[in-house]
Amino acid sequence: MLDHPARSRWSVQTQLVHDGLDRSGFGETAEALYLTSGYVYESAEQAADRFSGEDEGYIYSRYGNPTVSLFERRLAALEGTERCVALSSGMAAMYAALACQLRAGDHVVASRALFGSCLQVITSLLPRHGITYTLVDGTDLSAWEAAVKPQTRVFFCETPANPTLALVDIAAVGAIARAAGVCFVVDNAFASPAVQRAAPRGADVVTYSATKHIDGQGRCLGGAVCCSEAFYEEHLQFFVRHTGPSLSPFNAWTLAKSLETLDLRVSQMARNAATIAGFLETHPGVERVSYPGLPSHPQHALAGQQMTSGGTLVAFQVQGGQPSAFRAIDGLNLIRISNNLGDSKSMVTHPATTTHRVLSDEERWSVGITNNLVRLSVGLELAEDLITDLDQALNRAQREG
Ligand SMILES: *Cc1c(COP(=O)(O)O)cnc(C)c1O
Repeated sequence: MLDHPARSRWSVQTQLVHDGLDRSGFGETAEALYLTSGYVYESAEQAADRFSGEDEGYIYSRYGNPTVSLFERRLAALEGTERCVALSSGMAAMYAALACQLRAGDHVVASRALFGSCLQVITSLLPRHGITYTLVDGTDLSAWEAAVKPQTRVFFCETPANPTLALVDIAAVGAIARAAGVCFVVDNAFASPAVQRAAPRGADVVTYSATKHIDGQGRCLGGAVCCSEAFYEEHLQFFVRHTGPSLSPFNAWTLAKSLETLDLRVSQMARNAATIAGFLETHPGVERVSYPGLPSHPQHALAGQQMTSGGTLVAFQVQGGQPSAFRAIDGLNLIRISNNLGDSKSMVTHPATTTHRVLSDEERWSVGITNNLVRLSVGLELAEDLITDLDQALNRAQREG
């Protein structure tokens, strides 16, 4: 269930259907789409008041838009933060959350198991501006502690990690960050806000790729940063206003409507994923399965504490190495080959040759991305159909090996 001590008298699920709805004079049932870049003023004085901040209305859609605000209010209600700023993609959100608060001389500590572009931001882009970093094994609490320097400003992680599904203990790393006076940023795209709310567990800032589970139907890119009012005012507002990674109102409308069904979709996808993970564990063509909802996951107990389910992603190693993994992937009829995830359509990818191709062999092995590893994003099809498809593909991969 989606719930937490609400600032509203309504439950979170109800807020996701009704919050932020500001009907126009037509009294429309559904949320209006304000596809506008600018706004007109009643008078020169009103324009002056808008710019001085005395009048709270909109000025320009790079600064704010009613449809974008609709999505932001719903996602803030779901994450349980004072603020949410919607941006054009997950990477725009991740980059803004870090760049808005860092300057030359600062230091970042990040978990080594990261989405490829997040890794590039930390190891290639931020260092161009004099920001240094240390990568740690995110599952090792003492490593986070040991990496702190006087100039450390930010901790960053993803949990579950892509694609191995190793977990970072949000509450424990959050406590280390607080003790060190460091801002803890969690990229929560992989779990989705329906499975894990990182802010109430100890993250200071939570970023989302809304492209993934929030849209969840393969239509548009989007991102968001959830944070406190203080972080917004001190860091984020200035950065996003003047760098312009704004979300299109059309995409915001799509994403806001998607939040109405997020819990339904993700809960069913996670039930399917749990069923499929259990099936894969018994299949002779599968060497090992990683799914936080399975007792065999080394951090199953932690998953029970910080996630409401095992999530929608399953990673598994195919018997017989990369050739066999490729045969299994190519043998699928229903499940599509795509690096996207969190979609209502089930998708598989081979991380070592796609999403994590740019890492060296050593870097891949250090986070458990073997050549026979397959990542499966489980969708809304009937679980039995997905099992039928996986079973025939895995059987064929072994027979033809
Ligand atoms: C996909 C993804 C991103 C990037 O999101 P885009 O919307 O594609 O920019 C960032 N972090 C994680 C964990 C992701 O899965």
